[in-house]
Amino acid sequence: KKSGSCKKLYIAGCLPRYIENITTGSKQEKEYKSVLLNIDGIIDSVKIYGCFAPKIKATHPWLSYVKISEGCNNNCAYCLIPKLRGGLKLRATMDIIKEIEILSKKNVKEIIFVAQDTTLHKDLTRILKKTAKIRNIRWIRIMYAHPKHISKKLISLMANERKILKYIDLPLQHCNDKILKLMNRGYCKSDIERIVNLLREKIPEIVIRTTFIVGFPGETEKDFDELKTFVKSMKFDRVGVFPFSRENGTKAYNMKGQIQEKVKNDRLKKLMRLQERISYVKNKALMGKTLDVIVEKIVDADKTFKKRMTYNFIGRSYRDAPDIDGFVYAYSFNISKIKLGDIVKVRVNGCSTHDLYGVMIDSRRKTG
Ligand code: SF4
Repeated sequence: KKSGSCKKLYIAGCLPRYIENITTGSKQEKEYKSVLLNIDGIIDSVKIYGCFAPKIKATHPWLSYVKISEGCNNNCAYCLIPKLRGGLKLRATMDIIKEIEILSKKNVKEIIFVAQDTTLHKDLTRILKKTAKIRNIRWIRIMYAHPKHISKKLISLMANERKILKYIDLPLQHCNDKILKLMNRGYCKSDIERIVNLLREKIPEIVIRTTFIVGFPGETEKDFDELKTFVKSMKFDRVGVFPFSRENGTKAYNMKGQIQEKVKNDRLKKLMRLQERISYVKNKALMGKTLDVIVEKIVDADKTFKKRMTYNFIGRSYRDAPDIDGFVYAYSFNISKIKLGDIVKVRVNGCSTHDLYGVMIDSRRKTG
C-alpha cells in the first residue's frame, strides 16, 4: 500500500477478531496498531454463508473449497480459533449441496470440503454421498479430519465411493501421550495407530497427510525422539511440521516448560529431513503406476527437469491437495488436444521428494 500499487486494503477472517482481543499495552498491540492505521476496513467473514452468498473465486475454475461448518468445540490448548470464531456452527446439508450443484454447472470438478474440523459435521457421510451423485463432480477431497471424530462409517464410505479421493488430511500434532494430553487433543498414541491401521487396511491406496507441532511446552528431547521414531515407523505420505507458536489467550501460553525458538527450529528441521527420505521412497514406489491427473498448467514450450524428464503440462493426482502437496509434471504427445481442468491418465516414470514425472498415456482414454 505504501508503494501505491494497492489502492484499498481490507482484512478478513480471524485477524480482525485477533486484533480485537489483544490486551492493551501488550507487545502485540504495538505491532498491530500499524496494521489498523493502514487498513480501509474490516470484513467480518467469520460466519456461516449461504449457497447464494456472493463470493470471489480465488482458485482454479475446476476446483472449489466448500466450507461445511464454522467454529470449533475442540479447545486444543494451543489454539485461539474457538475464541476467535466461536463454537461449532453447522451449515445445513441441503445448502451445502445446493452450492455444489451451482458449482458443478460452472464446470467445477473437484470439491474440497473444509472446516476447522470436517469430521465434526454430524451429516458428513450424507453430504459426501449426495455430492458423489452430482454428475459433473469427479473428485471429492476431505481436509481437516480430526483423529478423535473419524468414524468407521466414514472410512467405509471412502473405501467404497469411487469419487471420494483416497486421501485424508488427519492432523495428529504429536504422538507422545503426555504432550497429547497437554494439548487437549482427546486421543492417545494407540488411538492414532488404530485409526491409521484401519485406514490402510480398508483403503490400501490411501494417502495420509498429517501435521505435527514441535517444541510444545514440556516436550523433552526424549519426547521428540519418540516423535521421530513414530514418524519413521508410520511412514505417512505427507507431513507438515510447525514450531509451537505461543498465542496469548490460549491455555498453552502460560504452560511451564516453554521451549527456546532455536530448539523448536532444530526439531522442525530434523523431522522434515526424516520425512523427506520417507516421501522420496513413497514416490519411488509409484514408478510404473498410472494415475489420474487433473491438468492445471500447459507450458508454452517443452521443459526439462534434471536434463532427463521432459514435460509440457503440470497437474495434480489424488495424492496432491492444491497448494500444500506436490505436482505431477508430464509429457503429452497430443498436447494440443488437452485443456486445463481435463483429467488424464499419466504413467509415472520419475520422481523427486515431492513431485512425480510421467507420460500421458492413451489420449483416447482421456477422461476429462
Ligand atoms: S481442532 Fe483445530 S480449530 Fe479446533 S481447537 Fe483444535 S486446532 Fe483449533
